[in-house]
Amino acid sequence: MTAQIWYEKDADLSVFDGKKVAIIGYGSQGHAHALNLRDSGVDVVVGLRPTSKSVAFAKEQGLEVKSVADATKEADVVMVLAPDQYQAQIYKNDIEPNLKEGAALAFAHGFNIHYGYIKPSADHPVFMVAPKGPGHIVRREYAAGRGVPVVVAVEQDPRGDGWGITLAYAKALGALRAGAIKTTFKEETETDLFGEQDVLMGGINHLCEMGFEVLTAAGYQPEIAYFEVFHELKMLVDLANEGGLNKARWSCSDTAQYGDFTSTVIDEHTRERMQYQLKRIQDGSFAKEFMEDQAAGAPKFKELQEEYSHPQLETVGPKLRGMFSWNSDKSADADENES
Ligand code: NAD
Ligand code: MG
Ligand code: MG
Ligand code: MG
Ligand code: MG
Repeated sequence: MTAQIWYEKDADLSVFDGKKVAIIGYGSQGHAHALNLRDSGVDVVVGLRPTSKSVAFAKEQGLEVKSVADATKEADVVMVLAPDQYQAQIYKNDIEPNLKEGAALAFAHGFNIHYGYIKPSADHPVFMVAPKGPGHIVRREYAAGRGVPVVVAVEQDPRGDGWGITLAYAKALGALRAGAIKTTFKEETETDLFGEQDVLMGGINHLCEMGFEVLTAAGYQPEIAYFEVFHELKMLVDLANEGGLNKARWSCSDTAQYGDFTSTVIDEHTRERMQYQLKRIQDGSFAKEFMEDQAAGAPKFKELQEEYSHPQLETVGPKLRGMFSWNSDKSADADENES
């Protein structure tokens, strides 16, 4: 099964003639969507809480800003870019009661629709345009005349124009310069959660920290351990991004490659563990646990954030990062060490 991919020629911006798009939220994704669509000639209004600090930022960029309710009232497309855990509440209080007849509802992640926290009535088209990159890069690439690829999906298509709107939105975002891959809300949501839980964050972050702990507990200097289990990661990731795992391996020594093949700590137990976590994603138990904690004021989340806020790696991280002259993220203690 080969993926369906769309490019610039496959979408028509005239879909937005005489229409208005409301962008709800002005964070990482929100600012990029609002500015890129506006610069593509789309009539955009940003919906924010009147008390939000982002109101001033959006206005400085020349954007029209209204309350979520008022922005929704005049919009033909409402793109919801508030944090996932607040979307259901925002939808219920401010979007649903004000949504124009037949207006389309859009998302950059499938979580709330897929798990049923938001249930739009059947007469509204529901689609997703999910950039495969953070909002600041979505904006930077657009401004440079390029785009960040997106995955796109249509969940409800009451009039049959759902894909036309979706691809026009992706084009206005600049994403079709790179390409849009067809997915579903289910596939995007489940694979996104799996990626962040088991590989990108829950995998790598814990692997680095544990490697650091094992080396320092065995008496090696933390500075040396930091370089070996953490700092060099970026260089390998850059190579892998350019040319895949083969390029990342090719650029390492034969000793390193042989050790990679024979001495990995990732084994069949890890696979079973991944399959177990995937089941918890698929049956909704991860989402339920997260959303129930959020609804209670996020006590467990806050406790975990505190517990994880002092990784052992960071006992030397600021000092070592400060040694790289091109690294602008110098902390105070690194500056002290330099002077
Ligand atoms: P963010 O935290 O950067 O920004 C959220 C914005 O929502 C802020 O402007 C905030 O002021 C606003 N907001 C918060 N509560 C609000 C309310 N009650 N009413 C109106 N606005 C409110 O969020 P983000 O990372 O841009 O994520 C937005 C969506 O994009 C999520 O669905 C996320 O999964 C998805 N997404 C994010 C990325 C990423 O790299 N950040 C990538 C792809 C998809
Ligand atoms: Mg993701
Ligand atoms: Mg995610
Ligand atoms: Mg090394
Ligand atoms: Mg080596």
